[in-house]
Amino acid sequence: MGIAFPIPDNAIILRREAIISGLSALIPPESLITSEDERRAFETDALTSYRRMPLAVVLPTTTEEVAAILAFCNENGVKVVPRGAGTSLAGGAIPQEDAIVLGVGKMNKVLDINFGDRTMRVQSGITNLAISAEVAHKGFFYAPDPSSQLACTIAGNIAMNSGGAHCLRYGVTTNNILGVRMVLIDGTVVDIGSDAMDAQGLDLLGLIIGSEGQLGVVTEAIVRILPMAEGARPVLFGFETSEEAGACVAAIIGAGIIPVAMEFMDKPAIEICEAFAHAGYPLDAGALLIIEVEGSDAEMDAMLKKIVTIAKKHGVKTVKESKSATETAAIWKGRKSAFGATGRIADYICMDGTIPTGQLPYVLRRIDEIVKSYGLRVANVFHAGDGNLHPLILYNCNDPEEANKAEEAGNDILKLCVEVGGCLTGEHGVGIEKRDLMRHQFTDIDLGQQMRVRAVFDPKWLLNPAKVFPLDGRISP
Ligand SMILES: Cc1cc2nc3c(=O)[nH]c(=O)nc-3n(C[C@H](O)[C@H](O)[C@H](O)COP(=O)(O)OP(=O)(O)OC[C@H]3O[C@@H](n4cnc5c(N)ncnc54)[C@H](O)[C@@H]3O)c2cc1C
Repeated sequence: MGIAFPIPDNAIILRREAIISGLSALIPPESLITSEDERRAFETDALTSYRRMPLAVVLPTTTEEVAAILAFCNENGVKVVPRGAGTSLAGGAIPQEDAIVLGVGKMNKVLDINFGDRTMRVQSGITNLAISAEVAHKGFFYAPDPSSQLACTIAGNIAMNSGGAHCLRYGVTTNNILGVRMVLIDGTVVDIGSDAMDAQGLDLLGLIIGSEGQLGVVTEAIVRILPMAEGARPVLFGFETSEEAGACVAAIIGAGIIPVAMEFMDKPAIEICEAFAHAGYPLDAGALLIIEVEGSDAEMDAMLKKIVTIAKKHGVKTVKESKSATETAAIWKGRKSAFGATGRIADYICMDGTIPTGQLPYVLRRIDEIVKSYGLRVANVFHAGDGNLHPLILYNCNDPEEANKAEEAGNDILKLCVEVGGCLTGEHGVGIEKRDLMRHQFTDIDLGQQMRVRAVFDPKWLLNPAKVFPLDGRISP
């Protein structure tokens, strides 16, 4: 596993010097990173089994600087990998040795807040959590809440169409972004969408969100902010088996009940997260659902009553409501730290696929069988309400054979998601990780059409070029 480092020949070294010299004329010295030590910080993202040293790193502070850098790269055929905080789990921000990294982390200002229209204009390098923090004093928040929200940027969220625990009710990134300012590869600055609730013409914003840094560099975003609910209450539902919990999720959704969040953990995940967060998760349960309801006390009570009735029909063993803000915080800390907590006990790869919720019981059983057939262990912790699975396959990264097995087991799980009518990705994107699996989801005709759309924006294929589309040359734009 991993990508080999080709040794640069003299031509590449000379070219690198010319590129650095060209870039240094466009941005101040503190915005250009060329030393090996400092570039190393950008050689991977959260898919750490892959790494490559970028040619150079630029950290612009304005849209104008981004435009100048991209125009230069376009003219000189330089590849560009846009980067936010580098938390991509799909390898979306991993560079190539013949590409520069363009990081937007320094562009992190709030530009305007309009509580009347419930919108906020921000620079794209702002972190997800900072957006909510800016408006919390007025009782507002930005809804999509990836577990990485403390670090990840809205730029990365837009590129990956990120989700989170509370997206079941409020939608994912694409449902909460109204507009973007984006720089095209030739340096042209375009505004797509607006403060208004709808825009005329083709849904270009829909195309940009989820385009994984391949259509342009987003420098600003207009986000929708929402008023906080009167109250919110997470409730823990412990089941004997994963199948029972999965069937309960399908039944709740099937009954037309949409809680704010409906998160699933199997036994290994419960143990890992409880040891980390001391959240009061039931350690005797085989599977746990964290279901959060919100609204007035009466609204929450009414919805919970319906959910408990359904859960009882599916064999729920324990039901425990949060009784205080401290308990609520601990419950969410446990869930949102699940990946980090898992990293304390083993190396893992985090899969991300989506399935129709009705298939949950079958798919959970099959995941277990698949991973066991490779002699490995799995912890499942995921957004159950929208069928977005995150099996964490545990392995030892110092054992190449085991690492390969983990990757193969992950591939089998993603193929299973497609087989049952789901999708290769849920919220982490395709990146490098799932690039070669795209043929399991799409025909050559589908992929060719998508590549042609991409080529309209970036005819020379310079923006994040090695991602998303299979590189076997069978199809071209
Ligand atoms: C512990 C952990 C928990 C996570 N939990 C979740 C979760 O709950 N939900 C979820 O959806 N994801 C989750 N993720 C994945 C990751 O945090 C998201 O994909 C996030 O949106 C990436 O943001 P980033 O700023 O780190 O972007 P990066 O990783 O830097 O980049 C991600 C992609 O965005 C592109 N990009 C970056 N900036 C720009 C720009 N300005 N213009 C155009 N393209 C750009 C990059 O080229 C790349 O393709 C998690 C990751 C970790 C490590």
